[in-house]
Order: sequence, then structure tokens, then C-alpha cells
Amino acid sequence: MPIAPAYGILTVKSPEGRFSKLLYLYETHLHTAPVSRCAEATPREQAKAYKERGYAGIIVTDHFLNGNTGCPKGLSWADAMTFFCSGYEAAKAEGDKLGLDVFFGLEYAVRGTEFLLYGLTPEFLFNHPGMDTLSAAQISALTRSAGGYVAQAHPYRSAWWIERPYPVDPGLIDGIETFNAGNFDPEINALAHEFAELNRLPAQSGTDSHFAEQPFTGGVALRERAGDIFDIINAIKTGRVELITP
Ligand SMILES: [Zn+2]
Ligand SMILES: [Zn+2]
Repeated sequence: MPIAPAYGILTVKSPEGRFSKLLYLYETHLHTAPVSRCAEATPREQAKAYKERGYAGIIVTDHFLNGNTGCPKGLSWADAMTFFCSGYEAAKAEGDKLGLDVFFGLEYAVRGTEFLLYGLTPEFLFNHPGMDTLSAAQISALTRSAGGYVAQAHPYRSAWWIERPYPVDPGLIDGIETFNAGNFDPEINALAHEFAELNRLPAQSGTDSHFAEQPFTGGVALRERAGDIFDIINAIKTGRVELITP
């Protein structure tokens, strides 16, 4: 069965008004159950839902062992990583069937401050036992040394588990979420946008999807289909993306 090309129609606001553009839509921030304890959607449900809504791809960013993980306690590092990667693997298998590109990422927490890490591989995680206990500076250096990308997720969000609800030293990050659909107070996104502008940090948008039936309000749109996750990273870094927002 031929697979329809993946694309989305994005309505863009310009000084002349609104117009529609054919763009490739990518979700940058997405969770699956049971790897993320707070997620309700299974990897298959997420892949199906995004395909139905015209996204070209998704980056699976489940909570790592230092976040809201569903990983059972007491596993060996290898078993914990097998569990952690199972959400991505299942989403990828479903995506391959449907014609949705599924990329690997993770959401890494340092005392509640969270980072989206892209460009690492499951093999890298297996080969770095104990990498769940690093400081922000250490995980940033480790990710970058492997050629990966570090973005701060939802800066300024406050919750009891977030010790410091502020942006980190901009030198530690390659990008920052200026729109997160889970920020119910629009002021949080506005502050993040201001911080990105002030520090000339690449901006990205993400749904932080935990539920398949969640309205699809975040992500980035590219003019060309991404061949791999580095095409998305480079597009964000060079500002060649439209941010998907409601
Ligand atoms: Zn979560
Ligand atoms: Zn998240």
C-alpha cells in the first residue's frame, strides 16, 4: 500500500494577513505510557494520532530516570535503558507502518529543571551508566560531546518539584522552549520568548503531549522533510522553522 507523503498545512500570520503554507510538521516534545509515569497515551496511540493530524514526524522525549519515570526501581542499568527506550521503539515500529518519522530524544531533569536532549542514541545511553545523576553543566557537556543538542523545556514554569523555575545559564543550552502547550499561564511562554530574544537563543515550540486526544498545538514546521533528527536540530538552530502555536 502506498504511503501518502506526510505534510501539514500551517496557517501563518503575516503583515498581509493569514495564509496557508505546505510545511512538514514535527512534534518536539512528546511522552508515552508507561515509560513516562504521567503519560496516558501508548506509543502506538501517539504515532497514530500524530499521523492523523498531518504531522510528518515526532521526537519521543520520555522522562528520563531522573524525571517522572515509570521505570521500576532496582533494575540494572541495561534493563532500565531497555525499559526507557521501549516507548521510542514501539512508536518507531508503528510510525514505520504508518509513514510517520519517529526520532529519539529524552527529557532530562536536574532537580526539576528539565532539558530536551536530541541527537543521542539508545546505544549512547546504554554505554553511559549513571548518566542520570549529572548537573546541568555536566549533562550539557556530555550531550554536546556526543554531537547532541540541549534545549531547556518550559523555563519559568513553577511547580513543587521544580527547585529553580528559571532559565539556566544560556551558555549551557542550544535552544529553549518559547512555547509549551502545557503552560496554561500565557505569561510563562511570553517570559521564555523574551529570554530567548535577549540571549539570542534558538526558539522551539512543543506540545509536551501526554494524551493522544490532546489538542495538537505545538511543534516546529520545516520547509523540507527532515531526513534525520539533525535536520530538525539544524533548522531550529538556524531559525529556519515556523513555530506551531494555537
Ligand atoms: Zn510528564
Ligand atoms: Zn515533557
